[in-house]
Amino acid sequence: MRMLQAKHDIPKLLELMDQDRELFVPVRDEGGGRFARWSDLDLSVNEDIENTLMLAGEATRRPAKDQLFAETATLFRFRLEQGDFHLEEPPPGPSPRVLFGVRPCDGRGFQVIDTLLVGPHGGDTAYQQAREANLLVGVGCKTPGPDCFCTSVGGDPHSSDGLDVLLTDLGDAFLLESITEPGRDWLSGLQKHGVGFLHDAGKRDAERARVAQHEARQRVPRQVDTSRLPKILERSFNSDVWATVAPACIGCGACTFLCPTCRCFDIQDLVQGSRGARVRVWDSCMFREYTQEASGHNPRIRRAQRWRNRFYDKFHWSGDGRGNPACVGCGRCITHCPSGIDLVEMIERVTSAEGGA
Ligand code: SF4
Ligand code: SF4
Repeated sequence: MRMLQAKHDIPKLLELMDQDRELFVPVRDEGGGRFARWSDLDLSVNEDIENTLMLAGEATRRPAKDQLFAETATLFRFRLEQGDFHLEEPPPGPSPRVLFGVRPCDGRGFQVIDTLLVGPHGGDTAYQQAREANLLVGVGCKTPGPDCFCTSVGGDPHSSDGLDVLLTDLGDAFLLESITEPGRDWLSGLQKHGVGFLHDAGKRDAERARVAQHEARQRVPRQVDTSRLPKILERSFNSDVWATVAPACIGCGACTFLCPTCRCFDIQDLVQGSRGARVRVWDSCMFREYTQEASGHNPRIRRAQRWRNRFYDKFHWSGDGRGNPACVGCGRCITHCPSGIDLVEMIERVTSAEGGA
């Protein structure tokens, strides 16, 4: 299903989206951008919306992942009564939401997280509930950010992977395309109420979208050959190349917390008196404590070992279950690394250190 929406009517569209489901949008802020509840913003005119919402291609510093895979999530609460533990009713799942303006790389990031937290034999309930409650409406990247390299890792500025609906910027209008069944149902619901400003798209609109998508692809600023990495990494585990990055890395973990595919967590029991809660909190393999064992032994005591682990997780051990690596090329870990460590340069360094074949 394809619809066309004139850009000057975008305030009406957003208001309409906020009626049945809670709407979240990507907003520019001093911290580099984040998703915020639409009803908390005071944006009624087009100019405010264009200046505040990040829809052109620049990624929010915090990825869409933290809307579904929260930094801290309460899994359940418990209480101690007469010497026995009792589980309390789990908190209600999230209400239906629309996450509007998801970057296509963030959509692909959810597919990587799904491989761990949504399993055929049951997964993480809190994440699965959030996944089901959120409709992911992506906006293609007309102007990809300076460190983007999505096309080098199987992606595209208009990839629809992991999204329910995809918007393409046609200059004066957006083309809205449904990708999944829930996306199609949601679009037809919008159509019923958006009479007068949501129109059926024609063949010519679809053709304009293909041209815009092709042009956006040419604007992805960075390219790197990752095709040989799986073979190269089979023999690079003991390479000296890992030590070359270690002196610069300060082990802050920003590259993992801002990564749309990093999904490591710790489980903690927070207890006060006779009541407590089991919570899931993000963890980072860039922290020394991550692999600290009770015996005192730590298999990744050195920073080079931790860096190597992260690199292997992205390009060798994990993936999206569809043959692509666990890196979606968003460039956040490059843009926001306080030490200026550049993953694309690191890929080139690993490749050339091993003879590139
Ligand atoms: S963001 Fe940079 S300095 Fe911080 S842990 Fe990652 S690579 Fe190291
Ligand atoms: S490893 Fe870096 S470039 Fe790749 S998905 Fe994570 S943050 Fe983005």
